Amino acid sequence: MSEEIRGVCGDAGVLFYCLVGNVALELVAMTEEFDIKKVARQHLEMDRFFAGDFTIKSEKGRIEEQNLRAEAGEAVSQMERIAGEVSACRRCPLGNLRTNAVSGEGNAQARIAFVGEAPGADEDAQGRPFVGRAGKLLDKIIAAMGLKREEVFIGNILKCRPPDNRDPRPEEIVKCLPYLQEQLEIIKPEIIVALGAHAARTLLDTNKSIGQLRGRLHDYYPDAMAKPIKLMATYHPAYLLRNYSDASRRAVWEDMQQVLTELGLPIPEHGRK
Ligand code: SF4
Repeated sequence: MSEEIRGVCGDAGVLFYCLVGNVALELVAMTEEFDIKKVARQHLEMDRFFAGDFTIKSEKGRIEEQNLRAEAGEAVSQMERIAGEVSACRRCPLGNLRTNAVSGEGNAQARIAFVGEAPGADEDAQGRPFVGRAGKLLDKIIAAMGLKREEVFIGNILKCRPPDNRDPRPEEIVKCLPYLQEQLEIIKPEIIVALGAHAARTLLDTNKSIGQLRGRLHDYYPDAMAKPIKLMATYHPAYLLRNYSDASRRAVWEDMQQVLTELGLPIPEHGRK
């Protein structure tokens, strides 16, 4: 024991040896003076412990972030693959009538997926969903919800335009629906907004009218084994344009408020009017 330590410790001191590298350090405890050293060491150990813990956590965080990025990249490439298949598809006669197939667009990991029935003339011309007058109204609805178009997914039941915007035929839906089903499987949205009767009836497998279906949440089953996804049915923006009234506008906004509440998102003040 060094003279200095021995002097402080006196006879009551108890000697400990501690190896640091190849050097034996003398440590003394049991006296008040050396309790201070003990406390200091405990602090140091606590610091190291927590520093180590934080290091582990940040490493975990880094790995999680890498995994999330890899998942996002995988989702984007899967969606691109489907878009490629759709653009070459001739499963039904609409494939020979289109200018462009409209696979859908938006966030490949969106929390909300908006699904309409089929592309119209503007969409067929541009190869993008909801870009005509109805699309502009949908953009306004999305903005009123406090969201951006690129944050959500927008698609249709049919990927090619039916001539003269006629209703989709059952045999066309049967051929085309697997594309949307696969897209929804990749995106895994927390909620689907079915725009109009055709989308709502197809996804919910029902013949009820949109008036009966809208206003409450339903369950969409991707398949018999999968967990259901919440689905809100509401009026198609094209219907709103044809029947623009306070009542129809309010009905859609009430539906969207339910969607926001279901997602735990705030309801923007400007959309309340
Ligand atoms: S509507 Fe669907 S199934 Fe028919 S050709 Fe287009 S992508 Fe294929």
